[in-house]
Amino acid sequence: LGWHIVARMPVDIAFAEAEQAVQRALLGGLVAALIAAFLAWLAARRLSEDLDALARAARDLEAGKPGAEIPATQSSREVRRLSWALRRMTHRLLAANEAMEAQVQLRTQQLEDANRELGLQARSDPLTGLLNRRGFDAQMNYALALARRSGRPLSLITVDVDHFKRINDTHGHDVGDEVLQRLAHTLAQRLRDSDVVARLGGEEFAALLPDTDLDGARAIAQTLVDAQAALTDPVVGRITVSAGVSTLRGADDTAQRLMRRGDEALYEAKGQGRNRVVVQG
Ligand code: GH3
Ligand code: MG
Ligand code: MG
Repeated sequence: LGWHIVARMPVDIAFAEAEQAVQRALLGGLVAALIAAFLAWLAARRLSEDLDALARAARDLEAGKPGAEIPATQSSREVRRLSWALRRMTHRLLAANEAMEAQVQLRTQQLEDANRELGLQARSDPLTGLLNRRGFDAQMNYALALARRSGRPLSLITVDVDHFKRINDTHGHDVGDEVLQRLAHTLAQRLRDSDVVARLGGEEFAALLPDTDLDGARAIAQTLVDAQAALTDPVVGRITVSAGVSTLRGADDTAQRLMRRGDEALYEAKGQGRNRVVVQG
């Protein structure tokens, strides 16, 4: 009919319901926002705790702390992946490090063995297995220092094969070598373990006798010369040796002088007809 009905009422009452709905929505939103913020804070805290644990473990590993390990973290997929990747990496690095240390230890051991062997070779005579001149000199210095400090006697016997050149000329160099080897064996056998026996070069040998005075050394040298003369070499026959004996003259005496007197005595023994002992004191 084209009529309009108009009702009048105060605005407060007219919008009261809408107002309430808005307030409920605001309250609900606030509570939801608070819960969301709390959950986010929890998640962030777990994340930062995990990252902190990873950082601490990394520091411990760097410092080489025993038992240090990257922890297995759970806070998020990415952090879990990160921690697994770090764990695998550290395990691989530690294994590689251990293998390298073992290798270094092995190589060090091999180097020490080789050095010892080299030192031994440098001091010994390959033909006879006795000490060579270098090894003898080292032992001489040691024995000399000991004798000087203790005041005990120290004597030297120098031995040289008589007419050795003839043996070489008649039977050949190889037979000469075998004669030297047998003589070296005889000398080493007849002297004491504490005596220092060496091949000084060619067919010349020396024996350093600690705690032995001139008379004692002379007697031992005579035994060596006599024993050699009594032997018959299986190839060459009779081989004689001559010996010179010298002894340390007090604490001021030197190795050079001791050796020179031994050489002079040996020269004298050769001059007197060989196969004998001469003493220079
Ligand atoms: P002497 O009685 O005066 O000592 O005479 P000798 O012939 O023994 O002495 P000489 O010094 O005239 O000769 C020593 C020889 O020793 C000469 C050298 O060829 C030989 N000789 C040196 N070293 C070796 C070696 O390692 N093996 C062999 N087979 N002979 C060597
Ligand atoms: Mg000789
Ligand atoms: Mg000689």
